[in-house]
Amino acid sequence: MSVSAQARKLSSDEHAVGRIVRGQAASDGAGVRLTRIIGQPALPDLDPFLLLDEFRSDRANDYIGGFPDHPHRGFETVTYLLAGRMRHRDSRGNSGLLRAGSVQWMTAGRGIVHSEMPEQENGLLWGFQLWVNLKASEKMTEPRYQDLDPEAIPTVQRAGGVTVKVIAGSFDGVVGPVRASATDPSYFDITLPAQQSLTHALPREYCAFAYVFDGSVQIGPGLEPIERGELAVLGTGNDILVRAGPGQDARLLLIAGKPLKEPIVRHGPFVMNSQAQIRQALEDFRTGQF
Ligand code: FE
Repeated sequence: MSVSAQARKLSSDEHAVGRIVRGQAASDGAGVRLTRIIGQPALPDLDPFLLLDEFRSDRANDYIGGFPDHPHRGFETVTYLLAGRMRHRDSRGNSGLLRAGSVQWMTAGRGIVHSEMPEQENGLLWGFQLWVNLKASEKMTEPRYQDLDPEAIPTVQRAGGVTVKVIAGSFDGVVGPVRASATDPSYFDITLPAQQSLTHALPREYCAFAYVFDGSVQIGPGLEPIERGELAVLGTGNDILVRAGPGQDARLLLIAGKPLKEPIVRHGPFVMNSQAQIRQALEDFRTGQF
């Protein structure tokens, strides 16, 4: 399907709301069924974001295979679980358990090999994985983890039952716990009761998007409708308005980061700046350097 068929361009206010993209069904790891929102033909990347997946199923066959050992180099992976349990293990002996509300912000840097496996055989597994690029000078940094328990993530309450979990960045003066890289990301999980609204200004000249994962919203001065499973590219610098549709709470991710404006050369789980660096990554992986 062509890019134009999958993404509609809005005309009402291009500075506030840009393209709207619907996720595409995909399978990754050992047969995990998921929805790929960034990193698919309609939206290959959104600098500095390289990938956004949503996995959501209560059928074990959709997730039980998990993501067995695989490498990463050159970027950060951010896993946010809404429901279920997922076990992480890496080649350096690190291990951690993500539960509902947990975040793992992993800076792969020069390289790790890890597995991400569901620690459940039934019930709902629901969450997101976002890939955040690293700037050229950070791509070969030592790997590190920021494992955040649900209790470590502050929540901002606004009038009308509007709540914002601040995973990274700053919202109403509340600063999220993630120590940021050069991309200075904001990562908010927003709940809007039916017909409640929220305004927020993201840093000027950052790249920003909203991804609706429950209910529906209207967004921007034109109150463009965005349904569950759709991503809207947003302008930054001025207040952006989001209003939940009638009859149902809406939930969305609001994410922003500083574009790197550097060459992106990707080969599966390696994202570098040149083909030579990709060849080096493949060679280093093959010879057990990770
Ligand atoms: Fe991974």
